[in-house]
Amino acid sequence: MYDVLIIGAGVTGASIARELSRYDLKVCILDKNNDVADATTKANSAIIHAGYDAKPGTLKAKFNALGAPMFDQICKELDVPFKRIGSLVIAFSEEEMKTLESLYEQGIKNGIENIHILDKAKTMELEPNLIDSAQGALHAPDGGIICPFELTVALTENAVENGVDLFLNQQVIDIEKNEKEFKVITQKEKFTAKYVVNCAGVFADTIYHMVTPTDFHITPRKGQYFVLDKEAGNFANTVIFQCPTPQSKGVLVTPTVHGNLLVGPDAEDLNDKTDLDNTRERLNFVRENAKKTSENIPFHLTINIFAGLRAVPDTGDFIIGESEKVKGFINVAGIESPGLSSAPAIGNYVKDLLLDKWEGLKEKENFNPYRRKVVRFNELTPQEITDLVKKNPSYGRIVCRCELVTEGEIIDVIHRKAGATSLDAIKRRVRAGMGRCQGGFCGPRVMEILSRELNMEMHEVVKDSPESKILTGKTKCSEEEH
Ligand SMILES: Cc1cc2nc3c(=O)[nH]c(=O)nc-3n(C[C@H](O)[C@H](O)[C@H](O)COP(=O)(O)OP(=O)(O)OC[C@H]3O[C@@H](n4cnc5c(N)ncnc54)[C@H](O)[C@@H]3O)c2cc1C
Repeated sequence: MYDVLIIGAGVTGASIARELSRYDLKVCILDKNNDVADATTKANSAIIHAGYDAKPGTLKAKFNALGAPMFDQICKELDVPFKRIGSLVIAFSEEEMKTLESLYEQGIKNGIENIHILDKAKTMELEPNLIDSAQGALHAPDGGIICPFELTVALTENAVENGVDLFLNQQVIDIEKNEKEFKVITQKEKFTAKYVVNCAGVFADTIYHMVTPTDFHITPRKGQYFVLDKEAGNFANTVIFQCPTPQSKGVLVTPTVHGNLLVGPDAEDLNDKTDLDNTRERLNFVRENAKKTSENIPFHLTINIFAGLRAVPDTGDFIIGESEKVKGFINVAGIESPGLSSAPAIGNYVKDLLLDKWEGLKEKENFNPYRRKVVRFNELTPQEITDLVKKNPSYGRIVCRCELVTEGEIIDVIHRKAGATSLDAIKRRVRAGMGRCQGGFCGPRVMEILSRELNMEMHEVVKDSPESKILTGKTKCSEEEH
């Protein structure tokens, strides 16, 4: 029996798992998908918000303010790329300058001190590509950019290294509770646990409904994006927001931590929690709205588009805590933006909440907060490359030419804990396929490496989910050989 069973291996579940892995507890994470970070956590703006945006007194404001400063330490321990490039909220009219003042005051109330209102000249100095109608900005120098899937992979890998069990492709379909334990039933197995933590993103209400009629409802709110080639990466120096609306923080323009340019999202409420389609109409909306920030965004350098689903709760705030109706069941639900920025603080809080259930539990002496360093070939000096290739020639074979990713890096992430088993899992970990050709050249080579390292047939290698077959069988062979 597990002490704690976490449903959902997004950034929220992974942060909680890593915090719990510091203690002598039997912990597991279940996810219905074929990889960690394979839902909302893989498709968002990837901003670590400074913390002025959430309404004072809310859990969003509290956990954003506590979480954002924790990223420097966590990213150092886990070797995850993170940059505090600062953010700007731009005012395009005198009216919006007043909005900036309210945002500033809100930030101060939230305990965010390093924020300033800039005049037009200072704003244009920071962002020369802004439209001329920009009047000024709210500047938050501590705002940051991160790679959310690398973060979540790293959090999970470190949690597993410290004793947590990870089960993928396990969709929770029912939960039973008796006096002593929960029985969590997936399409494959039954797990028992003393405590259950519900981090199921847009499906958190469905999961809660398995133990009691829910008293909250989650609406999926879709946001669509353009990803531009690295040639456009220097178009913006900071995260550039427009003034927020009640639905979202508006269309932003930002460099990514890996040097691309990201433009989006819109906000569209849906009924379908699986609808991740990009649509011409909404992408046009994003493009038109982004023109308010700058008329010259080089959209012709677009290399990809994607969509993510915000888990919007009808309570208006994060729902974090033990259910009053079902003792031992902890909801961490409605984790919409700024959920990524809040994740480390939520992890810490839920860990404390659970530790209260055990008396005298001490941190394990052998807990290791560090993840084995990742080789990033494209950041190495010529001498470092020579030394590395001498030791391991697979680091001398470039597989992804756009992003300069070597065979050695791919082999490494396949064999790490919580390792990659699909084409997209490799892409999320080492960026093979993230570049200009989007895997057109390296895809088949990555498949060969996966097939060899995981000892499976080429046609068994999938793009992402177990159903996402790429090959159906060998050509020019008989029916039986297929
Ligand atoms: C458009 C958009 C922009 C955003 N921008 C930002 C931003 O810039 N900064 C920021 O701080 N936040 C941002 N957010 C919010 C942030 O992305 C989320 O708060 C965060 O990713 C939520 O993580 P999670 O782990 O709670 O949910 P998810 O990542 O959705 O994880 C939930 C997991 O539960 C699993 N699951 C669901 N049902 C079951 C089941 N029955 N059985 C087993 N597993 C199950 C899923 O497979 C999934 O892996 C944005 C969100 C969106 C959509």
